Amino acid sequence: MSRARVIVLNSALGPLDYRVPRGMAVEPGSIVVAPLGPRQLIGVVWEAERLPTEEVGDNRLRNLLAVADAPPIPAPLRRLIEWTADYYLAPLASVLRMALSSTSALEGGKTIVEYRATGEVPDRMTAQREQALARIGDRQGLIRELAAIADVSDGVIRGLVKVGAIEGVAVDLDSPYPAPDPAYAPPDLSADQRAAATTLCEAVDAQRFQPFLLDGVTGSGKTEVYFEAVASAIRAGRQSLVLLPEIALTEPFLKRFHARFGVEPVAWHSGLRQSQRRRAWRAIASGEALVTVGARSSLFLPYPNLGLIVVDEAHETSFKQEEGVHYHARDVAVMRGHFEACPVVLASATPAIETRQQVALGRYAELKLPGRYGAAEMPAIEAIDLIAEPPMRGRWLAPKLVKAIDATLERGEQVLLFLNRRGYAPLTLCRTCGHRFQCPNCTAWMVEHRLISRLACHHCGHVIPTPRACPECDSEDSLVACGPGVERIADEVAALYPDARTAIVTSDTIWSPAKAAEFVNRMEAGDIDIVVGTQLVTKGYHFPNLTLVGVVDADLGLEGGDLRAAERSFQQICQVAGRAGRGEKPGHVLIQTHSPKAPVMRALVSGDAEGFYAAETEARREAGAPPFGRYAAIIVSSEDKDAALETARAIGRSAPQVEAMQVFGPAPAPLAMLRGRHRFRLLVHARRALDVQDVIRDWLGGVDWSAKVRVVVDVDPYNF
Ligand code: ADP
Ligand code: ZN
Ligand code: ZN
Repeated sequence: MSRARVIVLNSALGPLDYRVPRGMAVEPGSIVVAPLGPRQLIGVVWEAERLPTEEVGDNRLRNLLAVADAPPIPAPLRRLIEWTADYYLAPLASVLRMALSSTSALEGGKTIVEYRATGEVPDRMTAQREQALARIGDRQGLIRELAAIADVSDGVIRGLVKVGAIEGVAVDLDSPYPAPDPAYAPPDLSADQRAAATTLCEAVDAQRFQPFLLDGVTGSGKTEVYFEAVASAIRAGRQSLVLLPEIALTEPFLKRFHARFGVEPVAWHSGLRQSQRRRAWRAIASGEALVTVGARSSLFLPYPNLGLIVVDEAHETSFKQEEGVHYHARDVAVMRGHFEACPVVLASATPAIETRQQVALGRYAELKLPGRYGAAEMPAIEAIDLIAEPPMRGRWLAPKLVKAIDATLERGEQVLLFLNRRGYAPLTLCRTCGHRFQCPNCTAWMVEHRLISRLACHHCGHVIPTPRACPECDSEDSLVACGPGVERIADEVAALYPDARTAIVTSDTIWSPAKAAEFVNRMEAGDIDIVVGTQLVTKGYHFPNLTLVGVVDADLGLEGGDLRAAERSFQQICQVAGRAGRGEKPGHVLIQTHSPKAPVMRALVSGDAEGFYAAETEARREAGAPPFGRYAAIIVSSEDKDAALETARAIGRSAPQVEAMQVFGPAPAPLAMLRGRHRFRLLVHARRALDVQDVIRDWLGGVDWSAKVRVVVDVDPYNF
């Protein structure tokens, strides 16, 4: 007889004990179904012990109900889950849920039924049905997935099934993925690339934990280098995981991978259909999927046999998860490598100061690629002083930038204008009464999106039709758009160059891998002359005919005075500058700024990255900021403002007196209201040596709050 200690999903109650009924075999990691009250929940066995019958004879113990048809969660992943829960002060069950994903093997069954159009025209065709079928085209999916694609209710799709216009097809979830071939198309590496690749391949073969910083300028061929490490892992039959910061980058990555290895890797991101997700999960858990490329969530999947982890564009802030379990995927990747005993490669042209510090301390090994691959040179960067040479009234592009665009278009080359702001204008106000449109749920302005005639909140998604009159004073024609977004720049470009073909690239226009692929194809075919885009275009893309990059507002990232503002601006502008001149034609970058003398602008123009980083690092050291000291944020939120403030104050009052720690606040959080919840924040600043998690755990353990208040700890927070 045995007893199992189980972590049950959807339960805030820590591990629970169950009896393992006769004939059921479980081991640590087994995925099981466990009863909890009247419910049956999924859980994972954390400990299992054989016990003498009299000890298990405890009548209060309930029997486990079933074991899932899936491999157990491997021990290194269980250790990672424990570490993550501990370090980020999150419930074990919440971290565990990421490993099982929402679906996984638990729903059982080796097939799933999807639906697709049959081509039959239904007898009773309505406008709605016709439109639905047109939108669905040759795609397939679950009823609700098709309904979402067609933007209709599930009932409409079911109706179409009934009349024979849509049919079900069984999808085999165990159909194999073809194996990538390491010998398919090996590249000719440059000497620098070869040296770096050899070191990585040796580390893969040695099966030892070692973090690497693969530090190479944009266009130096970092991907080609870590592909060789992937090839080594494939040869050894071990799995590799490549993390990308955006799902929009997946598509170009899949193409490059295919060119190198002959097949596509397994993709894992939020855009997958249910069947794709379940099939991928099974292949990953069985060890069949040799290479996975994914968003940060793929870090918690149950690879039984991981031999290599790569974090591409490792400096990207999107690796920091800000919802649910607050974790940083770059740090968790290193920990996973530690538990799996495999190398971890952080690839970046502009590594985070935290990462550089680990190199300085000798914990991470650095591999450098100093120059661009082949004939490509680094682009020349020049600042345009917006005070000395301002744009014309009501315009945003300075004459010098316009002149450069003229010349580039004349040569038949492509232009990228970068502005990290979606929509037409970030703020709409009434000239008559001064009314500003603010989101009712968030401390944020409503952003005008002229292409869809809406004002939208970028934090909660609240939208309203663009109003024609002011809701406060009723005056018409008094609303003005303040400041530019990409749509407004595209308007200016259209006015200046009526014949140029312009594309706007933001998450509004590139919302799926297919859209990204379409954009890449149009760029490569030369069907686009000018791209106006947000940070979405700054990474990963390689367009040899793109030779001019204009940064519309280089000062934007410096607003707000955030700890990492200068570093992030530097990284972002280097990244976007890195899109210019990646082929044989030289690139040129113009950055528009009001403060060309600011250290970050000077560093960009002179190319003195080292000097910039040294000064930033020194400033952090003096302030005791990360990586020299640490922060944690305690965010208290509630729909009831008084309740949130009361709790935040109570937490503040019971702050322990610890010498190496200071507590600031409570104060309104940077987004004082978000999705209808009022937010207050306490900021904890501690010395590196202090186990700040331990202190916070004890501290919060001694405070009570009501059910309508939520308290979340963000360890190593980003947005402040
Ligand atoms: P990074 O990721 O460092 O910015 P990439 O890996 O995207 O650079 O490489 C830039 C370009 O150079 C890509 O088009 C890539 O295919 C090409 N390239 C890099 N190394 C090689 C190589 N050894 N052989 C052929 N092409 C290469
Ligand atoms: Zn008004
Ligand atoms: Zn909002």
